[in-house]
Amino acid sequence: MTALSFEFYPPKTDDQRAQLDRTASKLKVHAPEYVSCTFGAGGSTLSYTSETVRHLNQHHGLQAAPHLSCVGGTREEIRELLKLYRAIGVRRIVALRGDLPSGMGFPGDLRYASELIAFIRAEHGDAFRIEVGAYPETHPQASDALADLRHFKAKIDAGADAAITQYFYNADAYFQFVDATRKLGVDVPIVPGVMPISNFSQLRRFSEQCGAEIPRWIAKRMQAYGDDVDSVRAFGADVVAALCERLIAGGAPSLHFYTLNLARPTSAVLQRLGHG
Ligand code: FAD
Repeated sequence: MTALSFEFYPPKTDDQRAQLDRTASKLKVHAPEYVSCTFGAGGSTLSYTSETVRHLNQHHGLQAAPHLSCVGGTREEIRELLKLYRAIGVRRIVALRGDLPSGMGFPGDLRYASELIAFIRAEHGDAFRIEVGAYPETHPQASDALADLRHFKAKIDAGADAAITQYFYNADAYFQFVDATRKLGVDVPIVPGVMPISNFSQLRRFSEQCGAEIPRWIAKRMQAYGDDVDSVRAFGADVVAALCERLIAGGAPSLHFYTLNLARPTSAVLQRLGHG
């Protein structure tokens, strides 16, 4: 059975907390290796992330990994957060640069994720397993694809143990990316990030921001379904399950699901994969 991880965002209201509890309870039947919790750049969800990590661990018995982004933060703030994570038993961190919210002037003491990884290793040695982001379709701000690959390698050279990709719907982009990194001497696991499809207009907005391409044949079919939610969901689950099958057959080490704190879209894909 392929190993799984699930990504959540930190809830801020009581309704959102209840929703995350329902989602975590449903998804944990799939026995994820770990779950992760996102982090708002500039510290806006700083306490929510650590609270959520603690809650997922204590209430749901899940190994929870906080995302930690360095943009907009000082070394001292990051140092304090790492101390807190160590104190509450965190063993794994997803280390990122993050994106500066518009209007925020201070870029942060650490400019790139590679600098954050070097900082974590200098302060805490091997106490944390470190995951980093990877971009099979190239990071949207990269000057070019080859420079982006070199910057990815710099994160592994700085001490990252594994990578999770931005989501994509074109399996070849992933396989080409993995091959290119192997040629550069990178040998860590590169885990595909999988975004189930439930709300197509929302997905389209996200994808424009993060540089993920939605193939024309998927977009056209989704447009044709319009408000027919059941068809959108069923087609979305079929497409994403077929993608996962190709990824697993092609050697993907595990799958990381972007759940958006919803159980149903991820469960629908996992059911099609025979995962419960
Ligand atoms: P980096 O690896 O630092 O790269 C950022 C850009 O800088 C790239 O274009 C790269 O090519 C370039 N670059 C890197 N090093 C150099 C250098 N030395 N010189 C010049 N250019 C360089 N965002 C959040 O805010 N919170 C989250 O919780 C979060 N979770 C994520 C989880 C995953 C799995 C992924 C894939 C992304 C996540 N993001 C999150 C989004 C991420 O923060 C953004 O994509 C951000 O723009 C880049 O972060 P990074 O760590 O990949 O940056």
